[in-house]
Amino acid sequence: MQAKQIAELLNEPACTHNTKSKSGCARPKPGATAGGCSFDGAQIALLPIADVAHIVHGPIACAGSSWDNRGTRSSGPTLYKIGMTTDLTEQDVIMGRGEKRLFHAIKQAIDSQSPAAVFVYNTCVPALTGDDVESICKAAAERWGTPVVPVDCAGFYGTKNLGNRIAGESMFKFVIGTREPDPVPPEAQRPGINVHDVNLIGEYNIAGEFWHVLPLFDELGLRVLGSLSGDARFHEVQTMHRAEVSMVVCAKALLNVARKLETQYKVPFFEGSFYGVTDTSHAFREFARIIGDESLTARTEAMIVREEAKIDAALEPWRQRLKGKRVLLNTGGVKSWSVVSALQDLGMIVVATGTSKSTEEDKARIRELMGEDAKMLSDGSPKALLGVFKEYNADILIAGGRNMYVALKARIPFLDINQEREFGYEGYTGMLELARQLALTLQSPVWESVRKPAPWQQARSI
Ligand code: SF4
Repeated sequence: MQAKQIAELLNEPACTHNTKSKSGCARPKPGATAGGCSFDGAQIALLPIADVAHIVHGPIACAGSSWDNRGTRSSGPTLYKIGMTTDLTEQDVIMGRGEKRLFHAIKQAIDSQSPAAVFVYNTCVPALTGDDVESICKAAAERWGTPVVPVDCAGFYGTKNLGNRIAGESMFKFVIGTREPDPVPPEAQRPGINVHDVNLIGEYNIAGEFWHVLPLFDELGLRVLGSLSGDARFHEVQTMHRAEVSMVVCAKALLNVARKLETQYKVPFFEGSFYGVTDTSHAFREFARIIGDESLTARTEAMIVREEAKIDAALEPWRQRLKGKRVLLNTGGVKSWSVVSALQDLGMIVVATGTSKSTEEDKARIRELMGEDAKMLSDGSPKALLGVFKEYNADILIAGGRNMYVALKARIPFLDINQEREFGYEGYTGMLELARQLALTLQSPVWESVRKPAPWQQARSI
């Protein structure tokens, strides 16, 4: 990938970071890829496309340290879970065998797995040795009759966020728009209901959480034409240009896809979230508003009234247990405000929220929800987190897996909110699961016993 292309991706016009400076998003600095390189970002954005063979072209460590790193779920194929790599060694580099190995790896994947497509992720070593991955993919696709998509995402290009955009760019360049959608099947048609096609962008179906919301889409007559990329299939992604509207679920990742769908195919988009009752209802209202079908609006309002009443009653006993509990939230992007809204729906008080990966728009939403004096944490270091936890008298830390050991060592309740988690929190029913997990975490009997002085400390004081 050329420097000019990287600069274009960093200058994503739809990204709110661009309002801050003329130079666009921050350039990666040495060491800035510690949170994940571009390859990692590209792979996690596309790995949930379940019927694709995902080949990592590079040394074994690139695939080995990243494979299956999300708790994303598929309702069908599990091919995406098979880690594939060309496993380049120094002999391959010295002998210039990288391209040959890649060609054979693609053949092996097609012969053994019959995938809907093959995605090839370029990494640092073949990018440095100059393997022509795009030409190899083209030749392999022609030879074996299966789409082979290059994703030029060498780690040294930049950060994980840049990798997300590179992934989106590859989807836009090689996949979206290459097929027309299937007609709506007769069993999905109901009298008097027009089915509308929609896209979800940046929705990863973590722990199967989108399945909490999907039945409501079906009920309203909204067909999820394509998703990038939770529980997606290759042929669905190919048709995303025909949707009537896209919802961008994660504000930063893949925003370039939403913008290009709008500019090139006139598919409008909005940013929303399925975390919390308020935001779930808001997302459905946005679909209805943008599509502009009166009967869809009426169905949406009726569904919202019914679901909100149902979940309100179901959450009441949990609210009694959680009301007034103080939360320190340290997550990034859209979750920095969408989870605030979900916690407030439960009567909890968010004392501070992490904003290290949030956009200016995310921060504006946080201020809207938590007030102008909202404490925003740009420093997510253990020392800063524990300092704020103590200062604000918080009861629980809600954060990503990397903060788990910080919480365990400090003996404070901790709930994982990021991609490795085992529980899905989206939609109205997801709120029940969130409330249940929060109550179990906060009221676990373990806290009483671990906070007692250790036996040797007791012995010392005798
Ligand atoms: S792509 Fe580069 S930075 Fe990323 S894991 Fe591989 S070698 Fe490391």
